[in-house]
Amino acid sequence: MSVMELDIKISKTPNSRISEFNQENIQFGKQYSDHMLVAHYEDGAWGTPEIIPFANLSLSPATTFMHYGQAIFEGVKAYKDANGKARIFRPQDNWKRMNKSAHRMAMPDVPEELFVEGMRKLIEIDEAWVPTAAGSSLYIRPFMIATDEFVGVRPATKFTFLIITSPAAAYYSKPVSIFVHDEYVRAFPGGIGFTKAAGNYGASMYPDQQIKKMGYDQILWTDGFEHKYVQEIGTMNVFFVIDGKVITPDLNSGTILAGVTRDSVITILKERGIIVEERPISIDELEEAYKNGKLTEAFGTGTAASVAPIGKLTFHTDEMQLRPVEEWEIVNWVKTTLDDIRYGRVADTHGWILPV
Ligand SMILES: *Cc1c(COP(=O)(O)O)cnc(C)c1O
Repeated sequence: MSVMELDIKISKTPNSRISEFNQENIQFGKQYSDHMLVAHYEDGAWGTPEIIPFANLSLSPATTFMHYGQAIFEGVKAYKDANGKARIFRPQDNWKRMNKSAHRMAMPDVPEELFVEGMRKLIEIDEAWVPTAAGSSLYIRPFMIATDEFVGVRPATKFTFLIITSPAAAYYSKPVSIFVHDEYVRAFPGGIGFTKAAGNYGASMYPDQQIKKMGYDQILWTDGFEHKYVQEIGTMNVFFVIDGKVITPDLNSGTILAGVTRDSVITILKERGIIVEERPISIDELEEAYKNGKLTEAFGTGTAASVAPIGKLTFHTDEMQLRPVEEWEIVNWVKTTLDDIRYGRVADTHGWILPV
């Protein structure tokens, strides 16, 4: 990937907080790096973006997104290689996806150079915030909000695009226990399931709270018509290994978020000659495979957790308890292979890495 031109204003903080950043005790989502990127859209055009010290925003209580949820986001990560150089994983793919979300939510496209080069520049300035410990990374959160000062319902005309970043420790992926939901619905055809819209998360908070009380980690959502086909886990796409083949729900119905990790996993599995099927997958099929001993592995994929093994799946009162993760073959191989690419331990043959 090459570096693009971007007209940008940079004001560095005179009060860096980097000395407060303790790599031994990383506070993901609580501690933010020194700077953030901000760009405003008005009268049909983006203004000059700025990188400024991380600070609170000042907004009218009438600001559109606070009332009607015209808000979208992305999640990207930067990693440090063995020489301490930061690199960003597949930012162009997140840029493309952000614009798909923007289109569906009647928000303006974010130019590629603003998203990708703006992000690269921000990470260059805050490179000291990219942690170096094994498995750690800098989580990058680009997002866009509608900022008209107007409580009437209509698509906004003013928008703000921001990028903030927060250091993330290695994600300890103890196998997650999953509750297959057939009461609440996350997404349906024609809705916004394929977008990273804030509202998708707002609507999932209550069901998520319920299943956590029952002792589960995450929900596996099912389709809204029959509650028969599985869609994805709250923040992750889902994969099953059945009879040596890897199966994941296809993206055709527009109810599933096209994860960058999902695509990366499919790509490297296929390169290894493993059969990957993208198709509808029903709970009946999973239960049948489980009974016959053919459901050997199951996992979620996403930028935050990378590859998260599923230890147990519960549907109504049926419990599917998978074998100990140590015995799995595919999950462990996929995770290591992805990490090797991210941390630069192997060559980037896919053009997935943007050096900072
Ligand atoms: C972000 C997200 C994912 C994972 O996407 P990645 O690009 O792999 O991080 C999966 N499902 C949902 C609902 C998401 O919001």
